[in-house]
Amino acid sequence: MTTPEHKTMPTHPRHLSSVTAWDMETDVVVAGFGGAGACAAIEAHDNGAAVMIFELASDSGGSTKLSSAEIYMGAGTRVQQACGIEDSVEDMFRFLMASNGPIADEAKVRAYCEGSVEHFDWLTKTLGVPYKDSVYPHRAIMALTDDCLLYTGSEKAWPFAQTAQPAPRGHNLQVEGDNGGALFAKILKENVEKRGIGVHFEARALTLITDDEGAVHGLVVRIDQQERLVRARRGVVLCCGGFVMNESMLRKHAPMLLGATQPIGNPGDTGSGILMGQGAGGSAINMHEGFVSVPYYPPASLTNGIFVNAQGQRFINEDCYHGRVGYYCLQQPGQRVFLVASASDFGDYPQGSYLNAQFAGTAEESVAELENELQLPAGSLQQTVAYYNAHATQAEDPLFHKSPEWLKPLELPLAAVDCSPGRGAFYPFFTLGGLDTRVSGEVLTPEGEVIRGLYAAGRTACGVPRTAAGYCSGISVGDASFSGRQAGRSAATRD
Ligand SMILES: Cc1cc2nc3c(=O)[nH]c(=O)nc-3n(C[C@H](O)[C@H](O)[C@H](O)COP(=O)(O)OP(=O)(O)OC[C@H]3O[C@@H](n4cnc5c(N)ncnc54)[C@H](O)[C@@H]3O)c2cc1C
Repeated sequence: MTTPEHKTMPTHPRHLSSVTAWDMETDVVVAGFGGAGACAAIEAHDNGAAVMIFELASDSGGSTKLSSAEIYMGAGTRVQQACGIEDSVEDMFRFLMASNGPIADEAKVRAYCEGSVEHFDWLTKTLGVPYKDSVYPHRAIMALTDDCLLYTGSEKAWPFAQTAQPAPRGHNLQVEGDNGGALFAKILKENVEKRGIGVHFEARALTLITDDEGAVHGLVVRIDQQERLVRARRGVVLCCGGFVMNESMLRKHAPMLLGATQPIGNPGDTGSGILMGQGAGGSAINMHEGFVSVPYYPPASLTNGIFVNAQGQRFINEDCYHGRVGYYCLQQPGQRVFLVASASDFGDYPQGSYLNAQFAGTAEESVAELENELQLPAGSLQQTVAYYNAHATQAEDPLFHKSPEWLKPLELPLAAVDCSPGRGAFYPFFTLGGLDTRVSGEVLTPEGEVIRGLYAAGRTACGVPRTAAGYCSGISVGDASFSGRQAGRSAATRD
């Protein structure tokens, strides 16, 4: 049956009774062929289901392909063991619970940590994802060599190092340069093709098909300008990414993120999966949260600097992950933020940094010069630097507990770059809110009831990563691939 497209809205599911004939039929229907969708389809197929994927773009990959595809795994993966890194489920669990704070989903974090080694083995042995048994020892946003393990969160920083034994858990694919996403997406696509899973490109999922009880029976997709009705005998898995490209949803749900400058993702990140799920009665949670970053390293030496706000005061231990720092930058009064460091610590900043923040002032003779140039209240920056230096000399940071590794008194000449949001510094962001799901991927109503036949994974669901304040690189592709598998398996094995 074909209905005029303008009448089909994601939040208005099609009623089963209006379906006179199905255009296609399978066990598990997957909407979106990015990281989560590919893993859902593969796992559903490997659990005995017939699967079809519908992807709006003309190729697979989504944001997963654009990403570095660092994947956050631990508790003793093969690479960790080979490199002599000690890690445990409990340390990983404690870290992820602490870093995600009160909005952490304990059941999801528990499953993710307990399943981490198995997930690594699945990626490597079942799919053939290559990882070298090596460590990338630098403080970096991503590895630019084919080395594997790096710290990608705030594990070594206060307060987390006091809560859990730190371990590097970011797993970078064995590929030179920032090319992990392209390689990961290629491997996923090859695995889908190898299994003979049916894939429809340029096929946009429009809305779900539901019955009187709210159970999901299929999906309306648009292919070649025509609406097609696809029956899903066991379930529909929504893997359509997040909503970072939907400005009206951002304004409504996550206005804080609009203080950041650069939405990152693919054009399909319009929230359509979340809206379809909501239309079928699903609850969307944590919609105000996102990943945001102020990528001030490399050069790592800028970690020796201090961030100050409009009051000339520090507000964070600068050895945290760039996402946590970005989160706090956005919270500062007046959104004025400067990174102040010894000139020598800027190193190759103009060539090697992603930050793009402009130099806002320098001090040759005294901190007061810089304070004046930055138009900070008289005495404020002078006090901050004097206090910081007095304690840094003793390898102490009584205010924010920066680790001694990065505590070095600030020395003249000093320089400052303007990291105020909206003044040129690069603040990439994407969303972390989505459909409320069980670990199994089943979508829940606001009352916590399961919607039969409906699953969600990746950024369409609200998964393990919940806030920039506790983010670690690798947790999104990690969560997308892990939650995709859970959802695919649950749908395939549903009674
Ligand atoms: C530049 C960049 C770097 C990043 N680096 C990392 C990193 O190193 N590690 C990490 O963990 N995270 C990283 N991330 C974040 C991470 O890539 C994403 O959060 C994650 O890949 C999302 O996976 P997904 O499967 O949910 O969505 P996607 O991979 O985006 O897949 C969603 C798919 O659904 C399709 N789609 C959307 N709507 C519809 C519809 N209505 N019908 C049919 N298809 C639809 C899209 O076209 C897309 O192909 C990065 C992101 C970016 C942009």
